[in-house]
Amino acid sequence: MRTYLVTGGAGFIGSNYIHYMFRKYDNEIRIINVDALTYAGNLENLKDVEERENYTFVKANICDKEAIEKIFTENDIDRVVHFAAESHVDRSIRNPEIFVQTNVLGTAVMLNCAKAAWENPDGSFKEGKKFLHVSTDEVYGSLENEGEYFYETTPYAPHSPYSASKASSDMLVKSYMDTYHFPANITNCSNNYGPYQFPEKLIPLIINNALHGKNLPVYGDGKNVRDWLYVEDHAKAIDMVQENGRLFETYNIGGHNEKQNIQIIEIIIDTLQEMLAEDDPRRTLVSRDLITYVEDRKGHDRRYAIAPDKIKAEIGWEPETMFAEGIKKTIAWYFEHEDWMKNVTSGDYQKYYNEMYK
Ligand code: NAD
Repeated sequence: MRTYLVTGGAGFIGSNYIHYMFRKYDNEIRIINVDALTYAGNLENLKDVEERENYTFVKANICDKEAIEKIFTENDIDRVVHFAAESHVDRSIRNPEIFVQTNVLGTAVMLNCAKAAWENPDGSFKEGKKFLHVSTDEVYGSLENEGEYFYETTPYAPHSPYSASKASSDMLVKSYMDTYHFPANITNCSNNYGPYQFPEKLIPLIINNALHGKNLPVYGDGKNVRDWLYVEDHAKAIDMVQENGRLFETYNIGGHNEKQNIQIIEIIIDTLQEMLAEDDPRRTLVSRDLITYVEDRKGHDRRYAIAPDKIKAEIGWEPETMFAEGIKKTIAWYFEHEDWMKNVTSGDYQKYYNEMYK
């Protein structure tokens, strides 16, 4: 039975990936999820897998070398899928250091521990071992012109402390591949959306605020463009890269779904109005009048757009979920998980929110 070590599995994409993997492989695999449970980590996301005999949760920080070494010593890990990171650009602008610690130093610890566990005395690596580093399209910087795309060969030009820390971690992974022939892949994906996303990020923020009749903050002129991918499609892509990708390669993952932030907000409002029952009291709250333009994010990148041509040509992966369908599924999930939203928006979230949008 193959053993996966997933880092950051209690977060948004990590938990969706774990669900995807158990749905696909059921009892054929074992997953160990290591997560520090920061504000973004939530074991509620994994309630329906926690009883599985082939699932183990370890609360640890990826910067804690001893804790990570122990996992590798006590288990024969075949695959690492490394999600754990500080992931929110706005937080990185306010507090960059933790991004360097977790995203750069934490990745160094993960690489070192995997290398130590997998290396043969002659410097080669044990058969079948693979490390996948999950990264972002933000490392490529900002596109100014229509028709331009990020390719795997696009030079890195990160602007925010978040993207700079992710770019650094990517470089570190590349250096391990180049120096030691360490068996790894890097994936750079566009913005994800779907169930279990923490409401500091645009889509769940807008859904939650709209349902409560609260302002819908939009940065600057609202015309910054992002490419959006349904999270389950990302989970599938990660699995396909590890199964069928060429080792040492980078693969860009994207949704072919570029939208301005303001368009995303308008689609959410329209979809909410369509999905809420006639007599649902929240229906009267949801309105375009809630849209509130706020001061632009510092250094706000204008446009990101991924060309997922390589992953399609080499591995046969393509985005499957159209945005209109994905956003309905996402909204339906938030309708069904009001308690989840209540829990994550109590306490510290309120403090963060009030500071951000005062
Ligand atoms: P998230 O913030 O929802 O989850 C991050 C998880 O990592 C949380 O469970 C948190 O507790 C854990 N974590 C944070 N610091 C840790 C530490 N020091 N030790 C152990 N665990 C720690 O993030 P996400 O949106 O699920 O993103 C996951 C990964 O995917 C990140 O590496 C991110 O850069 C990348 N990514 C995200 C997106 C996106 O749109 N969300 C797009 C492309 C790539």
